[in-house]
Parts: sequence; C-alpha cells; structure tokens
Amino acid sequence: MLSWIQAEIDAALAVVDQSRVLLIEDDESQARAMTRWLEVTEKFSVTHASSGYAAEEYLRAGVRWDIVVTDIDLPGMNGLELLELCKELQPQAPVLMVTAHRKFDYALKALRGHADGFLVKPMRRATLNEKVQELLDEARDRARKSPKEVVVAIGAHPDDVEIGCGGILLNHARNGDQIVIVTLTGGEAGGQPDVRHRESLAAAQAIGAELRIFDLPDRSISSGPDTISVIEGVIREVQPSVVYTHTAHDAHQDHRSVHAATLVAARGVPNVYCYQAPSTTVDFRPTLFVDVEEQLGRKIEVIELFQSQARIRPYLAPDHLRSTASYWGRFSDYRVVEPLEVIRRSA
Ligand SMILES: [Zn+2]
Repeated sequence: MLSWIQAEIDAALAVVDQSRVLLIEDDESQARAMTRWLEVTEKFSVTHASSGYAAEEYLRAGVRWDIVVTDIDLPGMNGLELLELCKELQPQAPVLMVTAHRKFDYALKALRGHADGFLVKPMRRATLNEKVQELLDEARDRARKSPKEVVVAIGAHPDDVEIGCGGILLNHARNGDQIVIVTLTGGEAGGQPDVRHRESLAAAQAIGAELRIFDLPDRSISSGPDTISVIEGVIREVQPSVVYTHTAHDAHQDHRSVHAATLVAARGVPNVYCYQAPSTTVDFRPTLFVDVEEQLGRKIEVIELFQSQARIRPYLAPDHLRSTASYWGRFSDYRVVEPLEVIRRSA
C-alpha cells in the first residue's frame, strides 16, 4: 500500500467523536471546498480519495466509514461500480452520490443501485451538510430499530479471534449485530506491541467490531481472578447474548487459561461457544458448524491485516485458512464453515 494512503488511514483510525466521511471526488477544488464545508462544523472528519482505485484502498483498509460521499464520474472506476463496492464492503455506511449531470437517468441508476441519497453540483454548503447529517441520522435510526445481538469474542493474543471465528463475526456484522473483540494481551511475546495493536485495531475495524485490548502477561495468563475480573468487566458492561472463546483442547497454556476464565466470567451468558486455534489439539470436538462461505474471502483479507505475523506464521496463509474451512465443511454438507464447540446454547 502507498505510504500516504497508510498515513491517511492511520489518521482516520484515530478519529473519535466525529463521523468519518470518505469523500471520493476527482475535481481537486471541489473536493477542497466540500472538505472545508464539512469539517468546519467539527462534526465530520473527511478523508479524500481522488479516484475509484484510491477509494477501494480506503474501503478495504480496515477503517469503518460512517458515510461515503462520491462523485459519479470518476477516472478508472465509475461511481456506480464504486457504489456496489461500498455496499459489499461497508454495508453500514450510507452512500451519497454527487454529480454534475442533471440527467434524470443518472439519478435513477444511482438510486436503483441503492444509493442512499443524491445531490447535483453545484451545491450549496448547507445543502451538502444537511444531506450528510440526514443520512447519518437515518443510518443510526435503522441500526437502533433492527433487533441486534450483542456478541463478545475473547482471545488471548492479537489475531486469535479473527482466525478462530472471523467469518462468524463477519456474519454477525452483516446482521447489524454489535461486536466487541476482547484481546487480553498485547502479544508482546510474538512481536512489537504497538505494531500488533495497530494491526488488531485495523482488523476489528474491518470486521465492524469494537476492540478492547488488555495488558495481561503474554505467555503467562492465569485462569484465576485477574483474568476473570477483566472478562467479567466487559460482560457486565456490554451484556452480550453470545460469547466466543478459546477451547480447552489447546496446547497453548494462555488459550486454556482464557477458556477456563471465560467459563466463570460468562456464567450468566445464554450462548457460549469455543472456536479453534492453530494450537488446538485433536481432542477439539466441534458440534456446531457455521457457514462462512460468503465471508471467507473477506476473512482472509482481515487476517492479512496482521502483516507482522502473516510473513512468519504458516497458519495465516490464505491456502491454509481456506483448506481448514473446507475440511470442517465435510461435517456439514461440504460447505465452507468455522467449527465451534458448544458450551451452552439457548433456544
Ligand atoms: Zn493465541
């Protein structure tokens, strides 16, 4: 990835208390004006892409955009193709399409392609700002009204959760569920904590999850009160209906400790499942196989965000992830699945 794009992505990831706007516009002066109009309110943080290809980088980079504002006529990829890509990669984000064409059929095509709003250039500052705010309010309303599950996925180290149940979490995200990923250590035994933290954040963003990262000691996590109280704290706060955690059948002591501590901390949670890790032993005996066929490609992209590990860990190779998902599929009509052991499952 180009370094300036990475810098922009880092800046977008650091945004709090503002809506993240991805603005795609090839006319530089128009883009500057629109950025200024939106940012002067201090409610929006705007990241600008000047082509469809740059926009695709931003959409795939692990930033969860609150809204996409895009021109229809772009070099390389047109706005309608981009609209499709937005809806596939970031279904939560409304898309506002902007064009200089006054032709009705453009608007019609855009709306048929599920654009959420449409504006014609030249526009006034108030028109743009009001429309963006309106679409954000509508999206928040929709999210609030649809019944959602609250899901907590717990892992000892960065990337445990994504490997074990990344596809399942992407399924939850598609349903609009609230997802919290809990990573109990900074993974300092396996690499630079700040790098691993950044990778974890990008992966969580790409899934559409919130990340809680704690600093229990890597390679010596206990199954006792220290670990239990950390997990209990999260469970008390977010009140999940579903918890995913490590299996007890695992050669890694941290994973076993997290399993045991989760079972205590999540004793009041109606659904508790255990996912597979690369260190899981042959005693791992799943009874639930979740179809992740549609999500597998995206899961592999998420795992690739763990760049510092991907180069050195064979179990992160796309081939291995694919074949693992197909292997377990033989227990479930040869679909592409992630396997789970069931601790508790309510109707
Ligand atoms: Zn681990």
